Amino acid sequence: NKQVIFKDYISGFPKESDMAITCDENMKLKVPAGSKDIVVKNLYLSCDPYMRLLMKTNSGSVWNPYTPGSTIIGVGIAKVVDSGHPDFRQGDLVLGKTGWEEYSVLKSTQGLFKIQHATDVPLSYYMGILGMPGLTAYAGFYDVCSPKKGEFVFVSAASGAVGQLVGQFAKLMGCFVVGSAGTQEKVELLKKLGFDDAFNYKEEPDLNAALKRCFPEGIDIYFENVGGKMLDAVLLHMRVHGRIAVCGMISQYNLAQPEGVHNLMTIVYKRVRIQGFFVADYHPRYSEFLDFILPYIREGKVKYVEDIVEGLENGPAALVGLFSGRNVGKQIVVVAKE
Ligand code: NDP
Repeated sequence: NKQVIFKDYISGFPKESDMAITCDENMKLKVPAGSKDIVVKNLYLSCDPYMRLLMKTNSGSVWNPYTPGSTIIGVGIAKVVDSGHPDFRQGDLVLGKTGWEEYSVLKSTQGLFKIQHATDVPLSYYMGILGMPGLTAYAGFYDVCSPKKGEFVFVSAASGAVGQLVGQFAKLMGCFVVGSAGTQEKVELLKKLGFDDAFNYKEEPDLNAALKRCFPEGIDIYFENVGGKMLDAVLLHMRVHGRIAVCGMISQYNLAQPEGVHNLMTIVYKRVRIQGFFVADYHPRYSEFLDFILPYIREGKVKYVEDIVEGLENGPAALVGLFSGRNVGKQIVVVAKE
């Protein structure tokens, strides 16, 4: 059983060498009699920014940090090989927390969804548009941002797993939407996805000027994925009664000290509402979300860009690549085909 092991807690940017590929020769593919364990064969693994937060002891996250010497844990799509649990049977496809390894023993079914796979959509979509990032974009935009037709929407990390959907949802709502991303290729991609405009924040470090150009009348909604300097600049452009949905702050995850944000008085002057949210709170609305999104996918009204790498051994590079913007779209690792 090939595995990706987390070596030890880190500071700074994560590196491939913070993880090691090993093999566990003692893996048993049968569940012992009387146990409720589920043995799964992992098919797809998701690379997500929050995983970096689990690589330090003071993660500040709601999840426990990784244990040095143990398998990396993340969200995956897997096929049940053997099950002692009455709700799961051999051959079922499941979506939930699993190990970065070929086969895993799942001891808890908390947050484990049985995938009723519609064969007209790729199974890998359950890692992105039909999975955690999709639900995040749905909850964050429709629930937290309280959007209205005609409003001005800005999305950072806009070409990523979550951002590309937020922008498309904003267009469906009849908003004006602009995204920021780290390469020209991503900027072009955003325009193809229907964003009204996009800019490369690496080539245009004067964020204030970029935002002024894109939003001469200001921003009603900021979907926050990156934090730091971007948040500071955006605050100066918020309109009265603007909303900021704080989804994440990836620019801060590798810093020992978070960057200071200076323009906070805007919150008072412009009566801005800033609200953080967490996708796990929305799990009870997962089936409602699937009913919402599947018709849009089938009608071609919402598109989804994936960045798929083959092979468990390429997982560490894919994961650390999130922090240099190597991924274009949702980063997925294929471990095995069905
Ligand atoms: P992405 O697919 O967007 O991948 C991360 C992207 O972030 C990179 O491709 C890169 O794109 C950008 N990035 C990396 N470092 C920086 C930096 N220093 N400054 C600015 N941009 C950077 O990831 P997701 O869509 O999965 O996640 C987006 C955000 O949403 C993250 O903050 C994540 O933690 C958060 N999240 C929160 C959830 C919740 O429940 N609240 C659930 C899921 C995600 P580029 O080339 O454009 O720089």
